[in-house]
Amino acid sequence: MKGFIILTSTLFLLTSSIALSSSVSVQKVSEHLHILSGKEYGTNIGLVSTKYGLVLIDPMPGNNQLSTLDETIRSIYDKPISFILNTHAHSDHTGGNAHFEKQGGKLIESSFNLDDLTHIKVKSHTTIDNIYYHKESNSIFVGDVFDTSWHPTFYAGGIKGFNEAIEAILNLGDDQSLVIPGHGAPANKPSLLEFRKNTFTWIHKIQELYQKGLGVEQIMIDAQVKDILEKFNINNKPPFLPQKAHKKFIEKTISVINEENNR
Ligand SMILES: [Zn+2]
Repeated sequence: MKGFIILTSTLFLLTSSIALSSSVSVQKVSEHLHILSGKEYGTNIGLVSTKYGLVLIDPMPGNNQLSTLDETIRSIYDKPISFILNTHAHSDHTGGNAHFEKQGGKLIESSFNLDDLTHIKVKSHTTIDNIYYHKESNSIFVGDVFDTSWHPTFYAGGIKGFNEAIEAILNLGDDQSLVIPGHGAPANKPSLLEFRKNTFTWIHKIQELYQKGLGVEQIMIDAQVKDILEKFNINNKPPFLPQKAHKKFIEKTISVINEENNR
């Protein structure tokens, strides 16, 4: 038994040191697109090579991983970053802007056309959600409108804004497009459609229970609510959400429902 404990703790140390030395992961999507991601937030960072120079989308691997991100980029391209884009203003996406601006990167906030990259605006997760479509790799960066590692967060746009954002994303690219969420594994349009369906099922269920007069604590323990929530747990993480996050998600959904009713 003792031997077993020692063995598992050694294994644990081994895995954490591996994690430390490769804290920024790299996925090559095409000749001109890599997706990088830091362990801390799991934010999907786009590294796009255009004829105008390198473009970074959402450069935030975690505050202590910015130099690792520099090294990772250098291992792929021997060039500085020319432009920085953000899917939205939250710090887990914008936290590395200043770091790359100091190195000469230019932050682009308004509409633009950069070679193979096009841009549209929607309102769902925040009041301004930027969606970037990269034609050469047929990839769509959708920020936190979509998440494959967390529950949906449609808090700024409500039901209408969320639905319009999904429609706008579906209108970009084609059936084969890669859909890159703000966090979690890159997916495709069928999984985005599934995410929309599950989101509506969630909202309708919460609405039904709330209108019956159930409180947040009672809604939390409802078996059907738990089942619907598990549909967002793509990686079968046990448990998917801390209780606090589960509760907050219900509270936020109720405030979205109330706002829709007051419109
Ligand atoms: Zn985020």
